[in-house]
Amino acid sequence: MTKALVSAPPFDFRAGKAALLVSMPHVGTEIPECMAGRLSAACEPLGDTDWHLPRLYDFAAGLGASVLTARYTRFAVDLNRPPDDAPLYATATTGLHPDILFDGTPAFKPGQDLQEAERAGFLEQVWRPYHGRIASELERIVAAHGYAILFDAHSIASEIPRLFEATLPEFNLGTADGASADARLTERLASVLREAREYRLAVNGRFTGGYITRRYGRPDERVHAVQLELAQRTYMNEKAPYDYVPARAERVRPFLRGFVEAMLDWGRGHGA
Ligand SMILES: [Zn+2]
Repeated sequence: MTKALVSAPPFDFRAGKAALLVSMPHVGTEIPECMAGRLSAACEPLGDTDWHLPRLYDFAAGLGASVLTARYTRFAVDLNRPPDDAPLYATATTGLHPDILFDGTPAFKPGQDLQEAERAGFLEQVWRPYHGRIASELERIVAAHGYAILFDAHSIASEIPRLFEATLPEFNLGTADGASADARLTERLASVLREAREYRLAVNGRFTGGYITRRYGRPDERVHAVQLELAQRTYMNEKAPYDYVPARAERVRPFLRGFVEAMLDWGRGHGA
């Protein structure tokens, strides 16, 4: 029997009635007890978190989507990486149990990295339950509606020289280079985001979709997965304390709402 490393359920989940599951794997800010005091000073503010997404997308549940949000920090285990930790990108990246921040600085104090048993424990007690819920919820949605859409919601700092050049476009839509969703859905979603003239859009640019998008997007089986990597400057202060900036957020939220509504509308027309 493996020792319990986490004391609370590893996710929050709210089931909806529509054919859409919204997943937020990087919003967790709780630090498991065994990691207390071990993160480096640079990592302690949890700067690589996808901050405030539940608040930014707080309309999703009201539109009928099921919503799944991670509780624990990605420095315990990254839910958007494969369980065998195969590299997701040919360029620089971070792994299943990140030991560095996006900018390359150590995530843990010297000698305080996760032990093998801790890594295995987080995989079993955090990663597997989250993925189990994605799988069972998609299965339930397909049984109920004949198809399902999975939206994996992310956000990231606008400039991370180690990971990408220059300043990231505001909207980065990823469908595993077209493999994870019907092309008509992707085009419809892209057209909604293009209407936001003050923002730039990249489709399958630097961010083509992480493990979740690639793993669950099976258009042939009527499961369509899309990722949106949103530049954090659209709604928050990108430096600590990483606060939500309502004036910015209220400018982008109508487009995000339109984006989610377009998923629901498209499914009703084409998904079944
Ligand atoms: Zn993310």
